Amino acid sequence: MDLGEFEVYRIDSYGYDETPKTIAPKSRNFIVFKPRNAIEVSKILKFANERKIPVFVRGGGTGLSAGAVPTLDGILISTERMKEIEIDVRNRLAICEAGVTLDELTKAAEKHGLSFPPKPGAENATVGGMIATNAGGVRAMKFGVIRNYVLGLEIVLPDGRIMKFGGKTIKNSAGYPLLQLFIGSEGTLGVITKAIIRLFPQLRDMSMLAIPFRNIEDAMEYSIETCRKLTPLGLEYMEKRAVEIGESVSGKRWVSKEGEAHILSIFEHKWEAEESAEIAYSCNAVDVFLASPKEQRDLLDIRSKIYLGIKNRIIEILDICVPPASILEYLRKSDEIARKYGIDVITYGHVGDGNLHQHPLIFEGWERVYWNFRREIMRLAVEMDGTISGEHGIGEIKRDELAELFPEQYSIMRKIKEIFDPNGILNPGKIFK
Ligand SMILES: Cc1cc2nc3c(=O)[nH]c(=O)nc-3n(C[C@H](O)[C@H](O)[C@H](O)COP(=O)(O)OP(=O)(O)OC[C@H]3O[C@@H](n4cnc5c(N)ncnc54)[C@H](O)[C@@H]3O)c2cc1C
Repeated sequence: MDLGEFEVYRIDSYGYDETPKTIAPKSRNFIVFKPRNAIEVSKILKFANERKIPVFVRGGGTGLSAGAVPTLDGILISTERMKEIEIDVRNRLAICEAGVTLDELTKAAEKHGLSFPPKPGAENATVGGMIATNAGGVRAMKFGVIRNYVLGLEIVLPDGRIMKFGGKTIKNSAGYPLLQLFIGSEGTLGVITKAIIRLFPQLRDMSMLAIPFRNIEDAMEYSIETCRKLTPLGLEYMEKRAVEIGESVSGKRWVSKEGEAHILSIFEHKWEAEESAEIAYSCNAVDVFLASPKEQRDLLDIRSKIYLGIKNRIIEILDICVPPASILEYLRKSDEIARKYGIDVITYGHVGDGNLHQHPLIFEGWERVYWNFRREIMRLAVEMDGTISGEHGIGEIKRDELAELFPEQYSIMRKIKEIFDPNGILNPGKIFK
């Protein structure tokens, strides 16, 4: 077999994703293939498997764990030409090829009066990439992370076999849920070529509150109380410096200059926002602002631009997840650890999910102390029944900590990898060393 029928590309911009440069591994020599469908992916994988050539998979390249960076000489499959999308209105489903972006999927659903509620922050993330990382985002609380939406997958296994897992049914108890293995497997078990995705009715009455608090204690109490009584779509926390960065990049104004700890609460219905406003006042909010639709867009823009404004100043974006009610305790303890190492950390995140994005700032000599800091806070999270990645995945930058903190689970994961990919050609170095 040869691959003469394919155009191949050597394009340096495919050697990166959105992982901060300080921590991202370097890419090697690779050629890029842009297959159009599962049959073409199958040909490439068969060719590579027979010759034991490493194959990396790239969706939108918005990942934050270097999962799509080709770190060995080999092949990079880009799914950018796999763009077909069909909306099955009567079953409320989208059947998408892997390269469909979040923006394209959202718009296609809306055209049919439906919605795809999750909002991972990068609109050019692809369906394949979001499934491979089990992405979350700012609206995961009520309807769940991407895993909750995926009913079926078409996968090309490393030996080239094209297989289907799951289907169009909402229920499926037929044996082991193999479909679930691929969600969050970061391209290490197979290449996702197509997905069947659940859609929901449009969110017509979505309401948003912007709430400044004087301190983090009040903000976290509000978050816990709101989640005890209501199910928000999302609850986002931003420390003051994060808000200021989002303002300066977006050119939009946050609701108040007062307050050290800010919460953006998103609800499916206005009555929920009104009840939550009462809770906020009872938790000493400085004020509570109910946003108009235009203001909702501006507030979300401020939130979503923070990473853009901060990414060149940070060592990395951490992705710790702890039980939501333990966030305050986690933050106090991790701040103490940061102080011990002289590290300044800017924090925001999906506080309703217990998922924090801590951003340690670059400083002279950070390399000497950073790794110990990182290991300590990850251990702290695990000791608190949390985990080291809520939504960004392990990729190539958290695999040592995964192996160290979850040794037994890690060895089972490795055995599963060997079943699907005995030659270890697919996304080598991701999740596993
Ligand atoms: C500004 C910004 C905000 C973000 N906000 C969020 C957020 O709120 N929530 C969140 O969860 N993430 C967020 N992310 C991270 C990122 O958008 C997600 O990880 C996203 O799911 C990656 O999708 P992608 O298509 O860009 O994947 P890539 O970066 O291309 O790849 C990510 C991983 O998936 C694998 N992969 C990609 N396509 C396939 C496929 N077809 N088959 C098998 N494996 C595949 C890759 O090999 C890699 O391991 C954010 C990123 C940025 C830059």
